[in-house]
Amino acid sequence: MSESIKGPRGVRDILPDESWKWAYVLGRAAETAGRFNYSEVRLPIFEHTELFSRGVGDTTDIVEKEMYTFTDKGDRSITLRPEMTAGMMRSYVEHSLGVPGGNPAKLWGAGPMFRYERPQKGRYRQFWQLDYEEIGSESPLVDAEVIMTAIELFRTLGMRNLEVVINSVGCPKCRPVYREKLIGYLQGRCDELCDTCKSRLQRNPLRVLDCKEDREIVAGAPDIFDSLCDECAEHFNTVTAALTRLGVKYTLDKTLVRGLDYYTKTAFEVKSGDLGAQSAVCGGGRYDNLAEAIGGPHVPGVGFAAGLDRVILVMGEQGCSFGAQPALDAYVVCPDDSARLNAVELLYALRRAGLKADMDYAGRGMKGQMKTAVASGAKAACILGGDEIARGVVAVRDLSAAAQEEVPLADVPVRVASLAGKR
Ligand code: AMP
Repeated sequence: MSESIKGPRGVRDILPDESWKWAYVLGRAAETAGRFNYSEVRLPIFEHTELFSRGVGDTTDIVEKEMYTFTDKGDRSITLRPEMTAGMMRSYVEHSLGVPGGNPAKLWGAGPMFRYERPQKGRYRQFWQLDYEEIGSESPLVDAEVIMTAIELFRTLGMRNLEVVINSVGCPKCRPVYREKLIGYLQGRCDELCDTCKSRLQRNPLRVLDCKEDREIVAGAPDIFDSLCDECAEHFNTVTAALTRLGVKYTLDKTLVRGLDYYTKTAFEVKSGDLGAQSAVCGGGRYDNLAEAIGGPHVPGVGFAAGLDRVILVMGEQGCSFGAQPALDAYVVCPDDSARLNAVELLYALRRAGLKADMDYAGRGMKGQMKTAVASGAKAACILGGDEIARGVVAVRDLSAAAQEEVPLADVPVRVASLAGKR
């Protein structure tokens, strides 16, 4: 016999003992979005490959090595989205989502992303992101609001020991000056660079700054803050002043450049000490060049994406609450075969009353069914046999108190609801 088929490497099944936690976190993500006045956009999972090669950048690891790209039956090059920002901007431009008067459109979304990366703890080939974007404003207070969205989301989830790391990557006016300075410095130490950085040197030298192997060389690199133009420096100062006013502690990390070409000015990450090598729970920044890069008008924007898989990992490790795992309110027990249709009717009456209810379909005896009822965590067992039917009642057993009473059939949903604390 051939071996049974397993899931591909780097993808996971989120099983019932985990999926309820995901529903909880997604609920909090939507609630946080609501408080900050973001509206949800449900973006497609695949897009034209060009959206990412132009919007993320040809020289990034994502586009060079990590995309799931295929030709569809109509001979178009299609890519499973590796991130959501480019899709969000495409949608904004395509559907004219701009807000009149200069305020940003606040958009959020959640869903799976796909990157061909080497799987390890906290790094998968299919992973979820919670994505929050504010499109259409150049105000540095909007950068601060985006960072506050991330902080507030994590606070709402009860996460602790997080570090907010922030930097400015300049703009098309001042970054080229820094780029040249950096290339000049790196060329002087080219022989010492790792092979990847040697090839990055001309194509994407800023990426050398976040290389893990060349730390000592990076430590001596020119400081990007010395090259920022007045506008970028002022923008950065306003963002940090707002964060300080709101009581946020942040660390300045001049090597934080992120892998994506469209970032301008603010770049930030939130890191957790409880994640090992993959420490970033979210990353984001300003991307004033993205809309034009994908063929649109000039539209500034700022946003971030949080890794849902990693958020849930950290919450688990920190013992954060996921709310209560939903348990059954009632388990319908039917000791007589002849009463099974009555039991089915009772089951649906309970469900229609908004209760979580189930019953035995395996034809087990009374003892077996009671065992299942207890093991299921149900608040009540509703026992309905021929004897009860004859008298128009149901024996309702409170499984936590092991007390039992007879309840008129029509009153059972109300009785169970009160046992379950739902009324
Ligand atoms: P990025 O789009 O690369 O800025 O990533 C934003 C966030 O998504 C990161 O901070 C991670 O939390 C999460 N993330 C990125 N790549 C992966 C991956 N391969 N597996 C799990 N989470 C990821």
